[in-house]
Amino acid sequence: MPKIPNSFTYNDTNNLQALAQEIESAYANIVDGSVAPVWSFAETKRHIAVIDFSQPIALDDALSEAAYLMEHGDLRSASARCFGYFNPTAAWPAVVGDVLASVRNPQICVTSHAPASVTMERRIADMVCAKLSMPDGMAHFTSGGSEANETALLAALCRASNDYIEHGVRAFDKAPSIYVSADSHLAWIKIAKATGLGAKAVRLVPTSGDGRMDAGALADIIGKDKMEGLQPVMIAATCGTTGAGMIDPLASCHKIAESENMHFHVDAAWAGALIFDQSRHRLLAGIELADSVTIDAHKWLSVPMGAGIIALRDTSQAANVFSVKTSYMPEGDGQDFYITTNQWSRRFLGLRLWMMLRVVGEAGYRQMFDQHFALADYARAQLPKHGWQIRNDSTLPVIVFNDIKYGLDSQTIADEVEKRGKVWLGRVAFEGRSVLRICTTSFLSTEADVDLLIGELNAARETLKI
Ligand SMILES: *Cc1c(COP(=O)(O)O)cnc(C)c1O
Repeated sequence: MPKIPNSFTYNDTNNLQALAQEIESAYANIVDGSVAPVWSFAETKRHIAVIDFSQPIALDDALSEAAYLMEHGDLRSASARCFGYFNPTAAWPAVVGDVLASVRNPQICVTSHAPASVTMERRIADMVCAKLSMPDGMAHFTSGGSEANETALLAALCRASNDYIEHGVRAFDKAPSIYVSADSHLAWIKIAKATGLGAKAVRLVPTSGDGRMDAGALADIIGKDKMEGLQPVMIAATCGTTGAGMIDPLASCHKIAESENMHFHVDAAWAGALIFDQSRHRLLAGIELADSVTIDAHKWLSVPMGAGIIALRDTSQAANVFSVKTSYMPEGDGQDFYITTNQWSRRFLGLRLWMMLRVVGEAGYRQMFDQHFALADYARAQLPKHGWQIRNDSTLPVIVFNDIKYGLDSQTIADEVEKRGKVWLGRVAFEGRSVLRICTTSFLSTEADVDLLIGELNAARETLKI
């Protein structure tokens, strides 16, 4: 028998020690270090190009080499001082769970192959459905919000035509159209293209001057589109826009969807995390009316990236879209994930949230949200004192603002702040204006980090003023 190298497996020389060390230094770095990449992109590419794969090296060395490249080349989006991301620092219990999922690597696409993991995943999914007032609904994990939203659209298309499964978009006499606000996440465009509807099927409904979908305009556009030969199939309201944290008028949108017999989806990719905080359910009011809801565990629930959730009220829809029979897969009970979801081979993503709910619990999440809301209030109180005007009226911890001391351009300020390297924030368009954007959604961030952010903004502005 030829011998497989020892380096494949866990053993005396190939063990967790090096990993533990790298984890410690990575954590130290995201608490204290600066945020911007140390190298330019050109430098990063040079450092990576010279790596020689012809000679394997020891695990310890390969690990510190990879960490070194990431440390110098990447933006530290997990940092306490990164205010531009909804993908914050990954919480430790979720990371640990994910490592366990990697090592045991259960194949959860077939229930009979991983009955424990599948049942654990389902417990979490059922909990999400219960919190969304979908007692008979079904939820599953996705790669992220985009896949979740795509699943919602597929469910909407199945509902709109019984022939969609067999004939795809050719089942429709009229071109199907979907309705989202101009401030929605534009993965919708990508999804419309991928599902064969085409980008033009996405009807961008204007906002009311406050970043929320204008429900009157929504009704008008649907009416006109029907006269012009389109078939409206879905309204996707955003509960917490990515740019400014605004919530579309969910109840009004639902009413229109109901009267037009359209699927009503709520994209709560990041704000939906609040379903785990009973005291803040009211902020999501209307979400319980949805036919389907998107929530990303990898955003405000602080699990590592690659974990979204789609919840569907009508369980037959998902089963219709993805159902398939093969000779090499067991028939099972018709509920196997490989026939009820988009993915085939399937990672045990639910373990990340399972571990969070076991270790941190809903009480822990609530404390985290308390901190994030308090930090946003703190920033809202401080910014105007320094000549920054807040432009959104969000009930969530996202603030968009611009400079009114010198009237400087937001992009230029964001670039200068990034060049200084200590903190990072975003720049978006909001109601026709270019604005700076921060979200206080990392469990590591403190008031001192917000002070540092404002100090950096002020300093950048002084550098730029002449
Ligand atoms: C982030 C986001 C998405 C996309 O989710 P991914 O997980 O990045 O695929 C969709 N909608 C909203 C509102 C988001 O914030």
